[in-house]
Amino acid sequence: MKVVAGVATDIGRVREGNEDSYLLEPPLYAVADGMGGARGGEVASQLALSTVEDGYLSGHRGLAALVRDANTAVFARSVEDRSVAGMGTTLTAVLVEGDAARLVHVGDSRAYLLRAGTLRQLTEDHTLVQRMVRAGEITRREADVHPHRNVLVRSLGTEPDVEVDEADLGLLEGDRLLLCSDGLTTMITEQQIQAILEAAPAPQDAAERLVRAANRAGGLDNITAVVVEVRGDDADGQDTGVAATVSRPRRPARARRTRWARPSLTRALVAAILSVVVLLAGFSAFRTWLDSRWYVGVTNGHVAVFQGIPATVMGFHLSSVDLETDLPALEIERLQVYTDLPRGINVDTRADALARIEQMRKDLKAAGPAPPVDTAS
Ligand code: MG
Repeated sequence: MKVVAGVATDIGRVREGNEDSYLLEPPLYAVADGMGGARGGEVASQLALSTVEDGYLSGHRGLAALVRDANTAVFARSVEDRSVAGMGTTLTAVLVEGDAARLVHVGDSRAYLLRAGTLRQLTEDHTLVQRMVRAGEITRREADVHPHRNVLVRSLGTEPDVEVDEADLGLLEGDRLLLCSDGLTTMITEQQIQAILEAAPAPQDAAERLVRAANRAGGLDNITAVVVEVRGDDADGQDTGVAATVSRPRRPARARRTRWARPSLTRALVAAILSVVVLLAGFSAFRTWLDSRWYVGVTNGHVAVFQGIPATVMGFHLSSVDLETDLPALEIERLQVYTDLPRGINVDTRADALARIEQMRKDLKAAGPAPPVDTAS
């Protein structure tokens, strides 16, 4: 088997820098999509791939072990260097050996196989929405437009250890493998990806066309595509055929991006959001409860119906006047049974409050005229 590869990467139309990195070290190919504030994402994706590359070139370790080494390297750097604290990256790599390929994967970059007219996703996104799809909570279509669709549940370099997905794949002549960052798959559909992969005459054309299509669709993220084509032994072309004219920015430009993809940061944000939701729900429930409470009290020297409770919290009255009567509060208070009036007399309903006030009128009438009150003293 011969393998021919092409690659294209682009900053996209919105980002200030490209935090995607790729590796084209035939027969090893990879993409990494870094994340983290300031320079973090760029550092993470490059460090991860250079660690894998160096490890591969020095030999003897399996691909998954190299990815775990990369995790250790990125995590150690983020602990040592505060300017890149908490950075992380995705990493999806394929190693072609004869007629087989070994695939390793962490995060939400993807690997696809185009074979005999069918495009198949070889990796599973390590995202919150993918977990929800698996659990049957949302459909895949809902996941595609979910507001938190780029929240990762697994990434490289954000924890001391990482679980690496691994797979082996037999290769056939004519297969086209695609490794890509989510800046491609969130911008164009799999139908579009397949059409471009099928129509492009060579892997390099395919990679460039994919990136162009993502940019035309908005280019909201950095976009990287590595296309690897399996050819027969007698096929033309270089073994590792990257077109000579292609610029290969292995060390992408300065980058800045903040994405809340780190599990620890994600957890903190989710906790914060949940706290607010609980507070709001609690407040709403309290408000509803308050609105169901009634009492008879005093306002402007008159007996009145209040909704709420006769209390004040941090300067906020927990009640409001529903109805102010013409009944003088002082005359009612002097009756033995209503001395609590200034503090509020609780009742169950508004009707009960009105009935209580009618009773006050009757009791006042029965008690006879009030003695003179000297309010000036
Ligand atoms: Mg991305």
